[in-house]
Amino acid sequence: MPLIFEVGDKVTLKKAHPCGSKDFEIVRMGADFRIKCLGCEKELWLSRRKLERRTRKIYRNGERLKKADIEREQSEEQ
Ligand SMILES: [Zn+2]
Repeated sequence: MPLIFEVGDKVTLKKAHPCGSKDFEIVRMGADFRIKCLGCEKELWLSRRKLERRTRKIYRNGERLKKADIEREQSEEQ
């Protein structure tokens, strides 16, 4: 089951950006996602698949979303 993202969501990824931050904001969605590093403000593109696999936590309006779907994705990966 794919994760549901929205523009403006803050996500914590498994892998840190070179600047050391693991927190990103979703800026644009499409076939690929554009995300902004909240540590250094750099933006980068990531495929939906990669973003889903790397996401550990999703925050929307300051609240953490339930992560049953995230855990399912990660257990499939391992
Ligand atoms: Zn960064």
